[in-house]
Amino acid sequence: MTTIRIVFLGTSASVPQKNRFLSGLAMQREKGEVLLFDCGEGTQYQIMKYKVNFQKIAKIFLSHLHGDHIYGIFGLLNTMKLAERRNPLKIFGPPGTKQFLESFFGEKLENGFGYQIGVFDTEEGFVCEDEEYQIVAKRTIHSVHTLSYAYIEKDRLGHFDTKKAKELKVKKGTKWQKLQKGKSVLSEDNKVILPEMILGPKRRGFKIVIGSDGTYLEEDFVPFAMGADVLVLEATFSDINESKAKEKMHSTSRWSAIIARKAKAKKLYLTHISPRSEEEENLEKEAQEEFPEAIIAYDGLEIHLNRKDLETE
Ligand SMILES: [Zn+2]
Ligand SMILES: [Zn+2]
Repeated sequence: MTTIRIVFLGTSASVPQKNRFLSGLAMQREKGEVLLFDCGEGTQYQIMKYKVNFQKIAKIFLSHLHGDHIYGIFGLLNTMKLAERRNPLKIFGPPGTKQFLESFFGEKLENGFGYQIGVFDTEEGFVCEDEEYQIVAKRTIHSVHTLSYAYIEKDRLGHFDTKKAKELKVKKGTKWQKLQKGKSVLSEDNKVILPEMILGPKRRGFKIVIGSDGTYLEEDFVPFAMGADVLVLEATFSDINESKAKEKMHSTSRWSAIIARKAKAKKLYLTHISPRSEEEENLEKEAQEEFPEAIIAYDGLEIHLNRKDLETE
C-alpha cells in the first residue's frame, strides 16, 4: 500500500518544452491530503493528466516568485472556485508572496473565491505543522529570495505488544486504544501502565526535501537535507556550463549530487532541466559519478513510498 505518492508535474527550467512542463510537484499523503510544491504554468493541466485530486490540495508551497514557478496559480485558484471548493487553502511563499497575489486578485483574494485562502509570507526556518509532520524552509543562493522545503514526519509510537498487554492485565478495548495513543491506563490489578511498557520503540517517519532553484551552500544545505528518503534538487546546468551556473545562480547536476552524497540521501531526483537538449544526456552521467542513486526526473514520474519499508531498515 502506498503511504506517500509523489508526482512530478513539471520538470523544465524557465520555459516549457514539448515533453516538460514548468515546475510543480504534488505530494499525496495517505489520508488523501495533497501538498503542492510550486505551481508553474500548466500545472493544473498536469494535475488532471496525472490524476491528482486538485480539490484535496490543502497547502501550496511556492519556492520563489519567478514566473516559471508560479504562473499556474492564477488558473488553479480559479478552477477550484468553479468546482465549488469549500475547504480552506493555505499558500506559503517567500516574502512578497502575499503582495504578489493581492496585486493580481485584489480584494477577491480575501473573500471572492467561495473558499478561504490564507497567504503566508515565509522566512527560512519553521513554516507550518500538523499532528503528523512539519514543514521547514531553507534559503538557496538565487537571484531572488528562494526557499527549499523539507517535509519531515514526526516520530510515530511503536508497535502495540498484545502479549505484554495481557501479561500486565490491561483490559482489552478502550484501555488498549488509549495506550495506542500514548496515554497511560490502570491495569485490572490497579497498577499504572505507561505506554512505553507496552509499545515497541518509536518509529521514524519519512523526510522529503524539495530543493528549488539556486546553488546549495554545502554547510547550510547538507544538514537541512540530511538523511532524506527523497531529495529533489535542481540541475539546470552540466559540467561544461559550470561558470554559467555560478553566474546565473543555479546548480549543476554534479553539485546537487555532491549535496545528496554528503547528506546521505536515499535517492536523488534532478529537475529544472534546461531546454539545451545537448546537455541533458550529460546530466545523469555526471550526477551518478558523485551519487549513483541519482536520476533525472521527467513529467509524470511517480515515487511511491511505503511506510512498511521503514520498518525493515
Ligand atoms: Zn526556475
Ligand atoms: Zn528561479
